[in-house]
Order: sequence, then structure tokens, then C-alpha cells
Amino acid sequence: MNRVELEKIKEKALQDHIPIIMDDTLEVIKKELLHNKPSKILEIGTAVGYSAICFSEFLQESGIIDTIEREETRVAEARENIKKAEVEDKINILQGDAVEILPTLNDTYDVVFIDASKGKYPFFLKEALRMLAPKGIIFADNVLYKGYVLSDYNKHKQRTAVRNLREFLAELQNNPELEVQILEVGDGLAIAKRI
Ligand code: SAH
Ligand code: MG
Repeated sequence: MNRVELEKIKEKALQDHIPIIMDDTLEVIKKELLHNKPSKILEIGTAVGYSAICFSEFLQESGIIDTIEREETRVAEARENIKKAEVEDKINILQGDAVEILPTLNDTYDVVFIDASKGKYPFFLKEALRMLAPKGIIFADNVLYKGYVLSDYNKHKQRTAVRNLREFLAELQNNPELEVQILEVGDGLAIAKRI
């Protein structure tokens, strides 16, 4: 991992207003990854590859991250960034809409990171659970969505996203197979461990 390159990638993403993972959220996930030592990670929402590059450091020997992104220009930039960070052998980008790609996947993943369209989180959860390994962990970013999710706020133009995030959190919390934490770091991080 090339740290100078990683810092440049982060700075450019922030300048371009790309919603990359926030520092406090990343720190929490890194601590979990250090314990979990995943060999397969699935990421939904690559953007320019920043989070995937950060996670790649915690993979077991010959581990792999599959990461899904639908925007062509972002995929192109992610490929360049992954190359600059010298982690091409660890990150596999799947280009397209995760709603279409996920049902075609059949691997088992130790970690799933959900970080794409908020309105699709219930569907992403269903697919994540289908492929999650025993003792696997799901991380989901932006689950509190600027505080809207836990307030009585429902007049926003993003109300479908808020409703679906609430449904997502309820499904997590009602699942007896999962040990769930909702943290107020960044834009809200859910951690669900399969027990
Ligand atoms: N995980 C990245 C940030 C992802 S931002 C990081 O922390 O560095 C969310 C990304 O998800 C955006 O680039 C957006 O284009 C993509 N996205 C949103 N909905 C998607 C979908 N349904 N399928 C694939 N990509 C999606
Ligand atoms: Mg996010």
C-alpha cells in the first residue's frame, strides 16, 4: 500500500465532492477488520475506490475484495487509483447496477460493506445475508442519513430513502441471527455480526 498515493486519492475525492467514507467511520471498521481478518469482502458502492483500497490492507494473504459501481467514470477513476495504490491483485471491480449484479453472485463473503443507494438498503441486506459467511459481518454506512432516520422528519424529497433506511434498520434489529450495533459515527454506521 502506497500511503502518499492514498492520501492524494482521498484529497482529490473530497475536492470532487465524492462521498467517501468518513475518517471516524473508517477507524471503527478498520478495528473490526483487524480482528476478523477477512479473506473475501463484498463492497456495494466503489465510487473511486478509496474505501476498498483502505480495506485491502486487512485482507488475509491472497484475499479479494469484490466491489460494485454503476457509474462508468467512477469505475475508470477507481481502476486508476487501485493501480496507483498497487493493490490491483486484491480488488475486483464489477461494473453495473448492484440490483442487477448481486443476484448473479454466489460467493461467500466474510465482510459485506453496504455504501450505495439508500433506497435499496433492504434489498442489499437480503443479498448480503444470502452470501454472508458464518461469523461474517455486515457494515452499512449512512444509515442515520443526517439524522433524518431517527427523527420524525418525513417531508423531505429523500423520504423514500429515509423510509427504506428505517425498514433496513428494523430488519437488522429483528433478525435473531444478527448481533447489531448502530453507531453515530460519520453519517451513521450499522454493524451486524452473524452469530
Ligand atoms: N465506498 C466509497 C463511497 C461510495 S459512494 C468510499 O467510501 O470510498 C456511493 C457510490 O455508490 C457512488 O459512486 C454511486 O455511483 C454508487 N451507487 C449507488 N447506487 C448504486 C447501485 N444501485 N449500484 C451500483 N453502484 C451504486
Ligand atoms: Mg457512505
